Amino acid sequence: MREKTHIPSRVPPNSLGIKSLLGTEFLEKKQIEQILKYSFLFKDLLDSGKPVPQTLSGKTVILLFFEPSTRTRSSFELAAKRLGGNTLALSKEGSSTEKGETLIDTAKTVQAMNPDLLVLRHPSAGSPFHLDQTLDLPVINAGDGFHEHPTQALLDLMTIQQFKGKIEGLKVLIVGDIAHSRVARSNIYALQKMGGEVSVCGPPTLLPPKVEQMGVEVHYGLNKAVRDKDVIMTLRIQFERLNPGQSPSRGEYSKFYGISESVLKAAKSDVLIMHPGPVNRGVEISPDVADGSRSVILNQVGNGVIVRMAVLHLLTGGELPKGLV
Ligand code: ASP
Repeated sequence: MREKTHIPSRVPPNSLGIKSLLGTEFLEKKQIEQILKYSFLFKDLLDSGKPVPQTLSGKTVILLFFEPSTRTRSSFELAAKRLGGNTLALSKEGSSTEKGETLIDTAKTVQAMNPDLLVLRHPSAGSPFHLDQTLDLPVINAGDGFHEHPTQALLDLMTIQQFKGKIEGLKVLIVGDIAHSRVARSNIYALQKMGGEVSVCGPPTLLPPKVEQMGVEVHYGLNKAVRDKDVIMTLRIQFERLNPGQSPSRGEYSKFYGISESVLKAAKSDVLIMHPGPVNRGVEISPDVADGSRSVILNQVGNGVIVRMAVLHLLTGGELPKGLV
């Protein structure tokens, strides 16, 4: 009888010292700093038009997206390609998931084709952890239900660092549906590790129970909450994760929690306005604020590609030419 095909370990050692990126909860400050250092390094190369080292050349990144995505999926794809890598994107629609195949079986099937890294977005919290334990590959969590979205938080940190020059000591307010937002959770962990002071504001039904145990200041009204903040991060209500009747009406929500020019009269003049997208204009943020001079929403999108380049580079054990680092 012939031996079963041996699948070699595809996990090279890397300077981050982790196999997978599952959440910012599991990152140490020095690992976040390293990802940011590489992100700014890649940004400088791109901004100056210098060639980017093709450290993913000959490597394949699988993008397994079981929930809708515009920014995250396309930026992972662009990031891999800018580093010379190949990508293969699979979604729920049109894949064998529709025929009843489990996530683990799909992932093992994909692994048998010898990729170098797998990026997963899935509606079930914890699914990237299962894949990490099952597969001989680095796994990046690109959003697991309402749990974590680590690369979003990293790109948010990069954007804050870019515009404010630091993260330590800054006061950051996260507004909206904190309870169902993986972006909020990943940002709270990451910002606190980097010395930021995080506050949250939202209707009580959209704040997680015992949210203050996360070390955040809690507000129920925007007027006082915005006053001394350096950054305001506003979130979309995660309607797809709410039961009918659990969400406020869009009009009511916008009246009390929408970030508008009139709300910002009480804020610092240089407050940074952020949103992970997709934006529901006129609900959580008014169009004039979203497009205004304090908004860095599109910078977040651009930095998303760069942070994902850094993460892909580091997790696949890439090395930059001497002199660059
Ligand atoms: N794009 C972010 C996420 O995937 C935020 C959102 O969808 O509201 O979590």
